Amino acid sequence: MTSASPSTSDHFAHEALRLLGPAPANWVPAHEGVDHNVLVVGSGQTGSAFAFALQRAGIGGVSVIDAASRAAQAGVWRTRARMHKLRTPKSLVGPEGPVSALGFQAWYESRHGQEAYAAIDRIGRTDWAEYLDWFRGITGTTVRYGTRLLRFEPVVGGAVPHFRLHLEVDGVERVETARKLIFANGVAGSGAPFIPELLSPAVAQGLAAHTGHAIDFTALAGKTVAVIGGAASAFDAAAVALESGAAAVHLFARRDKIPATPVARVRGYPGFYDNYLSLPDGSRWHHASRYRRLGTTPPPDSVQRVLRFPNFHLHLGAPWQGAQVQAGQVVASVREERFHFDFVIAGTGYTHELSQRPELAEIADLVLRWRDRFQPPADERDDELGAAPYLGAGLEYIEKIPGTAPWLRDIHTYNPGGFASTGLPLGDVPSIRGYVPAVVRRISEDLLHADLALHEARTRADVPADFGEELYASAVWRPGTQRLAA
Ligand SMILES: Cc1cc2nc3c(=O)[nH]c(=O)nc-3n(C[C@H](O)[C@H](O)[C@H](O)COP(=O)(O)OP(=O)(O)OC[C@H]3O[C@@H](n4cnc5c(N)ncnc54)[C@H](O)[C@@H]3O)c2cc1C
Repeated sequence: MTSASPSTSDHFAHEALRLLGPAPANWVPAHEGVDHNVLVVGSGQTGSAFAFALQRAGIGGVSVIDAASRAAQAGVWRTRARMHKLRTPKSLVGPEGPVSALGFQAWYESRHGQEAYAAIDRIGRTDWAEYLDWFRGITGTTVRYGTRLLRFEPVVGGAVPHFRLHLEVDGVERVETARKLIFANGVAGSGAPFIPELLSPAVAQGLAAHTGHAIDFTALAGKTVAVIGGAASAFDAAAVALESGAAAVHLFARRDKIPATPVARVRGYPGFYDNYLSLPDGSRWHHASRYRRLGTTPPPDSVQRVLRFPNFHLHLGAPWQGAQVQAGQVVASVREERFHFDFVIAGTGYTHELSQRPELAEIADLVLRWRDRFQPPADERDDELGAAPYLGAGLEYIEKIPGTAPWLRDIHTYNPGGFASTGLPLGDVPSIRGYVPAVVRRISEDLLHADLALHEARTRADVPADFGEELYASAVWRPGTQRLAA
C-alpha cells in the first residue's frame, strides 16, 4: 500500500464512524442546578478516551477541562516527555477502544502506508501527540482549555447528589456543578512530584527541578548537571541535557544496577489483567510491591542515547547523603566524594499522597487507603503504596469510615495512584482497553440508579402502537367463514 493523504485517512475514519452509527441520544435526565453530568479533569489521552466512550454510552452533559492554555501545553507528550518514542508497544488499544479505524495504526497507515507502520518498532512521541489531536477532532471532543479545578465539595439534599466545583477559568474563579468527577489528571494526579528533602534549598534557589517540571535545557549548555534517579525519565532528562550542550552529566542511582527486569510483563495477558481487581489484596499488594522493589526499567534505547556522550557519567549504588547550596552551585556528598553541580534534575518519581494534590487535599482524610485495609508482610512493606487510595471496581474512592462520605463513590480516579488497586499505572496506554470501559459502565449504572424513579416512570409509560390491527386484519383466520384451499 502506498501512503495516503490526511484527507484520505479522515475519510476512512468518518466512514468507520458512519458504519458505527450515530451515538445514542443523551439519556441522562437534566436536573435544575446541575451543569454537567460528568466533569472530566484533564484532556490528555485519558480524558480524550473518556469523552469518546461516554459519548458512545449515550451519556451527555460531559465537560472536559484542562488547566493548560491550549492543546500543545496539555498532557505530557509535548511538554515533560523527553524521549523519542513511547515506551509502550505500538499495538496496544488506545483511546479508540473497539473502533480500530480510529486507532493509531489506522491513522498512521493512512498517512504513511502499511510498510511504514510495520517498520516502526514503537510509536514516535510527537506522532502520538499529533494522533491524539486528530482523535479529539474526529470524535468531536471539545476541551475547555485554561480551566483548572481548584477544589470541590459535595452538595447533598438536592434533587440528585452532585458537587460544587470551584474552577479557575483564564484566571477568574467561577462555580459550576457536576454529578460525577473523573480525575484524568496525569502522573502526579494523586499526589505530587517527589523531591528528596535534601534538595529543597536548591529547588528554592532555582538550582534544581523535578523531571515533571518545565526545565529550560538550553540554559544548561556548558553546565555540569546532576540527574538523580535510574528510571526512564532520568535517562531522558540526562539525554536532553547532553544534547543541549551540557559540559557533563552525572546520573546517580541508589541501586547498584539499572533496573532491567520487566516483572510486569509476565502478568501482561488478558486473563490476569482483565480480572486483576478480583484478586485478593495480598496478591495485588505482592505484585505492586515487587514491581516497585525491582524498579521501572528504562527502554534500552533511552540508556544508549546517553552512552553516546563521553561526558556522561553513571554513578551506581550512589544515594546522595547531603546537598548544600554554595556560591550558586549544589555541592553533593555521595559516599566519600563531593561533587559541584550547576543544576540538579530529580528523576525521583511521584507520590500518591492525596493531601499533596491541591484539588484533593480536602477529601484526603476521608478516602480509604491501602494502609487502612491491608497489613503487608514485613518483607513487602512499602509506605508509599500504603498511602495509595484503595479503589472500587469503578475506580471510585471508598470511604475510610463507612457512612461519613458516601459521595466519594462519585469520584473516579484515573492516574497512577490506582496502581496498587489495578496493577497498572492508570493513564498509561496499557490501562485504557480494560479500565476506561469499566469506569464508564459504573458511571452509567450510577446515573441510572440515581434517577431510577424517573427511568421507571419513563419506561413504564403508555407506549403508542407503531401500527393498528388493520395492518394484518385481512389475513386473520375466521373459523367457519373460510375454507382451506384445495
Ligand atoms: C516522561 C513521561 C513519559 C511517559 N511515557 C509513557 C509511555 O511511553 N507510554 C505510556 O503509556 N505512558 C507513558 N507515560 C505515562 C503518561 O503520563 C501517560 O501515559 C499519559 O500522559 C497519561 O495521559 P493522561 O491523559 O492520563 O494524563 P496527562 O497526559 O498527563 O494529562 C493530564 C492533564 O490533566 C490536566 N490537569 C491536571 N490537573 C488539573 C486540574 N486540577 N484542572 C484541570 N486540568 C488539570 C493537565 O493540565 C494535563 O493536561 C509517561 C509519562 C511521563 C511523565
